[in-house]
Amino acid sequence: MIPITIFKDQTIAVFGLGGSGMATLEALAAGGTKVLAYDDNEASREKAAAIDGVEIADLHTADWSDIAALVLAPGVPLTHPEPHWSVQRARDAGVEIIGDIELFCRQRHVDGPNCPFIAITGTNGKSTTTALVAHLLKEAGMDVQMGGNIGTPILALEPFVDDRIYVIEVSSYQIDLAPGIDPNIGLLLNISADHLDRHGDLSNYARIKARLVGASNMAVVGLDDRLTANIASQLRLNGRAVATISGFGNERAMLSAPDGVLQSMEGDFLFNLDQARALRGTHNAQNAAAAVSVVRQLDVPPAVLSRGLISFGGLEHRMEEVGEKDGLLFINDSKATNADAASRALNSFRSIRWIAGGLAKEGGIETLVDYFDRIEHAYLIGEAAAAFADTLSKGGVPFSQCGHMDVALARAVEDAKESNNAGKERVILLSPACASFDQFPNFMRRGDVFRDAVHAYLNSGTVPVDPAHAK
Ligand code: ADP
Repeated sequence: MIPITIFKDQTIAVFGLGGSGMATLEALAAGGTKVLAYDDNEASREKAAAIDGVEIADLHTADWSDIAALVLAPGVPLTHPEPHWSVQRARDAGVEIIGDIELFCRQRHVDGPNCPFIAITGTNGKSTTTALVAHLLKEAGMDVQMGGNIGTPILALEPFVDDRIYVIEVSSYQIDLAPGIDPNIGLLLNISADHLDRHGDLSNYARIKARLVGASNMAVVGLDDRLTANIASQLRLNGRAVATISGFGNERAMLSAPDGVLQSMEGDFLFNLDQARALRGTHNAQNAAAAVSVVRQLDVPPAVLSRGLISFGGLEHRMEEVGEKDGLLFINDSKATNADAASRALNSFRSIRWIAGGLAKEGGIETLVDYFDRIEHAYLIGEAAAAFADTLSKGGVPFSQCGHMDVALARAVEDAKESNNAGKERVILLSPACASFDQFPNFMRRGDVFRDAVHAYLNSGTVPVDPAHAK
C-alpha cells in the first residue's frame, strides 16, 4: 500500500467504496488523514467502518467546511449525465474533487520523485498494452508495479522505492479526476466513440484523453485514428516530445507494423509478430508497437524486447489461447462484448467455428458481414441467438441454435472432428459480440466456464454437457 501523507491531520471525504475506494481509505488512514467515507451500499459501508481511522459519515449532512477534498470513485458521474449529489455538495462548499490517481501523483512528488510513472490510456487495448509494458520491463529485470484500471488499485501497490517503475492503466474517468496527472511517459493508443454518456460528446472525451499525453514528459501517441493523429500533431506544434506509433505500415510513425512486422523508423528494431502468439491481429500490432515504443524510452535493448514479446502470455478472456488438440485451437475472447471487439478476433483466424450470442448490443452483428467467409459454422447462445440467426442466414453462414455454452462447445467440437479442413488453421472461438448478463454474472465468468469446459475436453476427450441444457 502507498500511504498518503499529503493530507495528514486534515479531513478527506471519500465517496464510492469499491476496490479502489477501499484502497484509498487504507492509504489515507495509514498516512494520518481523518477520513469520512460513504457509499449507498450498506455492506461496503460496514467493510469501510472496520478500517482504523475511517468514519462512516452521511455526506448529505456532513459539515463540508472542514473537508479538504472529496475523493470520488471513477464510476461515479462527475459531469455527465449529471454531477452526482456528492459532487454538487463539494462544489457548493468550494472543495476540490479528485481521484486516487491524483493522490498517487501528488504523493509521488514527495516520496517517489525517482520512480518512473508510465500512464496508459486509449479507448481499446489499454489492459493488453499495460500488461505487455509491465512484462517487457520485468523481462529487462526492472522493479515493476502494475495497476490502476487493471488489477490492483493504484494505492494498493507497493510503496515508492528508488527506481521502482509504476505502469498504470488509466481510464477517461480516472483522468477526469486527476487534474495534476504528470507521467514521465504517457501513452494514448486510440480514440473512438465510447463512454459518451459520461463525457457528453466525442470532442470532450478526446480532450480528456489528450490531457494525459499533454502533461507527460514524453508522449507516445497512436496515428491510426484521426483524433489521436491530430493530438500528436498538436503536441508537436506545442514543442512537446512525441513518439508516434501505428499498428499498420505508416511511414510517418516512428514505430510501425507493416504486414505484422514491427519496425522502428531508425531501423534498429525489427520483430515479426508471427512469433508472438498472444499478440495476434492488427489491433495487437498497435498494442505491441505502443508497448515497445514506451519501453524503448527506458533503454531496454532490442534482444530483450524480442524475447519479451515472444514470452508474453496475453490476458485472460482476450483472445486467450486455451489449448489445442488434433490441430484444433480453442480461443477464449469472452471480453468481446460488442461486434467491434468480435471483429478483431474474427479477423485474426481463417477457419472458425464461432460461439456467439448473449445479451444483444445495439446494431447486432450486421457490421460483421465482411468476416462471414471466415466462419465455417456459428453456434448461438443466449438471448441474442434469434437475431444473430437472422443476420447469419442472410449472409449465408450455417449456424446451430445451442442455447448454452456447453452445448455450443460440444457441437462445435463434434463438427470440427467430422470436417476435413486439412492445411487450414482450425479454431473454435468464443467471441460473443454480446454482453454476458443474460446467462453469466460477467464476461470473466463466461470465459471461465468456456475455459473449464475446454480443459475438460482436452483431458477426457468429451465436453461435459448439463442434461438440462441438452434438450
Ligand atoms: P481495454 O482495457 O481498453 O478495454 P483490452 O486490452 O482489455 O482493452 O482489450 C479489450 C478488447 O478490445 C479486446 O478483446 C479486443 O477485441 C479489443 N482491442 C484490444 N486492443 C485493441 C486496439 N488496439 N484497438 C482496437 N481494439 C482493441
